[in-house]
Amino acid sequence: MAEPELEGGCLCGQLRYRIRRIHSVYWCHCTMCRRSSGSGAIPWVTVAREDFELIAGTPRAYASSPGVERRFCGACGSPIVFDMAREAQVDVTVGTLDAPDAVRPTHHIWSRSALHMTAGLGPDLPRYAAERPAEE
Ligand SMILES: [Zn+2]
Ligand SMILES: [Zn+2]
Repeated sequence: MAEPELEGGCLCGQLRYRIRRIHSVYWCHCTMCRRSSGSGAIPWVTVAREDFELIAGTPRAYASSPGVERRFCGACGSPIVFDMAREAQVDVTVGTLDAPDAVRPTHHIWSRSALHMTAGLGPDLPRYAAERPAEE
């Protein structure tokens, strides 16, 4: 995948961020992402911590599990970042990129909880029942 520098932000524009380098892109069908986004599934772009930079605003955070923070705009509510403290990477919502078509999901995770209505999302991409196995 090409490695363009990407920018994005929340609905109201108070939060803005920059991504230097993409690690991977995937759909998550877990029930927590569903609740958090209000959508059927979330496409995420995974980036190394050092490749993600907030350039405007300060997000609010919700600890959705021990050691996990979901960061969002306190003004408009857009979910922006999923941060698992033990990981060297963070996930950023593809839907808040300025140019979401610049990235392409390559797989699905938590397909065991996927909704029927999401069957048409990347139907030919690999589906993992839960987390993606390491070094896949
Ligand atoms: Zn906002
Ligand atoms: Zn999820």
